[in-house]
Amino acid sequence: MRVVDLIRRKRDSQGLSREEIGALIDGYTRGDIPDYQMSAFLMAAFLRGLNRAETAALTEAMLHSGQVLDFSDMPGRKVDKHSTGGVGDKTSIIVAPIAAAGGLRVPMISGRGLGHTGGTLDKLESIPKFNVNLSLAEFRRVLHECGCALIGQTAEIAPADKKIYALRDVTGTVEHPSLICASIMSKKMAEGIDALVLDVKTGSGAFMKKEEDAAFLARLMVDTGRRMGKRVVALLTNMDQPLGRMAGNANEIAESIDVLSGGGPEDLRELCLVLAAWMFVLGGRANSVDEGKKIAAGLIASGKAKDKFREIVRLQGGDTRVVDDPRRLPQAAHRMEIVSPSEGYIEATQCEQLGIACVVLGGGREKKEDSVDPGVGLEFHKRVGAPVHRGEPLCTICYNSEARLDEARRLVETAYQIGPRPPATLPVLVSRVIGV
Ligand code: URA
Repeated sequence: MRVVDLIRRKRDSQGLSREEIGALIDGYTRGDIPDYQMSAFLMAAFLRGLNRAETAALTEAMLHSGQVLDFSDMPGRKVDKHSTGGVGDKTSIIVAPIAAAGGLRVPMISGRGLGHTGGTLDKLESIPKFNVNLSLAEFRRVLHECGCALIGQTAEIAPADKKIYALRDVTGTVEHPSLICASIMSKKMAEGIDALVLDVKTGSGAFMKKEEDAAFLARLMVDTGRRMGKRVVALLTNMDQPLGRMAGNANEIAESIDVLSGGGPEDLRELCLVLAAWMFVLGGRANSVDEGKKIAAGLIASGKAKDKFREIVRLQGGDTRVVDDPRRLPQAAHRMEIVSPSEGYIEATQCEQLGIACVVLGGGREKKEDSVDPGVGLEFHKRVGAPVHRGEPLCTICYNSEARLDEARRLVETAYQIGPRPPATLPVLVSRVIGV
């Protein structure tokens, strides 16, 4: 097999066999196939598409590029949740401790920021000394001790995804359903879980802008998971505006702690309760979503969810003092307010632009090797539908360097669409559940 022939064939819209896809993934994981050939293949796949059989073969090859974990010796159902990525989406950090406090085991393997979206690992690393790079033995120990561990891909788990994910991030090949499905499901199926709740984002800040594309991706992932014997549901959720009031790594940890403390913005809290509720349903702890929501709300009100988060932070080496005093998180040195140029209502936001502004400030990566500034980010003051006066703050930019501040400012300023009337319909947070 010559890699260039596979690239050519995909470029010319021909199908590839399971063996060919397997060989490509194996070769890339081993380092025999260089980044430039894998980039060309990804772009060809992005433009020409992969059919269901190719998507399944890619997922399987990426899954078996590493170990598949087995926690069947530990009591309790193993349930995880994964989001397809958005702006201000910090739900994993909130939902994982809630689910663990409610008796589920959550072996969560997450990713870093991708494109304009933030990543759970980058957010967690804004907690001083928090270690997302646990060995598999340590992962097992933390999971056993407190019911939840939050790590990145180790060299043993879906290493193909780890390499390909970083490449897609910087080669314009993120927003494709087959590539997203293979990336997410290869990681998740390696976790040794019984069930999975997927949060599939749709809207201007999501990879899948149109609801029908998000529904297609949701079905693809639900089918893939079920074929592998797992209980899976996917919630289609709105990403036409940022989730919550904060974007940026440390900012989002602070807001997550707010929610775990019983506060936080309504949209974020509601979505976390629904996601946790589905985890309780699939994990056999609740008979209905309503019952699951009550359990989740009770775990927040009693302080057990926050205690669980503190325990996770401690067991993963982080500074637990931030849990009670989030001001200890890294903070940006400077703040700049972006104010409304006119009177009216927020009709819409270009949510992806707000995510790009965070990246431009240094909160995400533009090249694989970029490091991330944990303190920078955005604070949002107005939601879609809100009335606004001229000169009233829309958003605060938290920054450390002026190098690209103008670019970030322009992105934020033009992200808000202000009109004379409130928008006719406000987006529903959870629009559909697929797989029930
Ligand atoms: N999250 C992932 O883990 N992979 C993707 O491709 C997109 C979002």
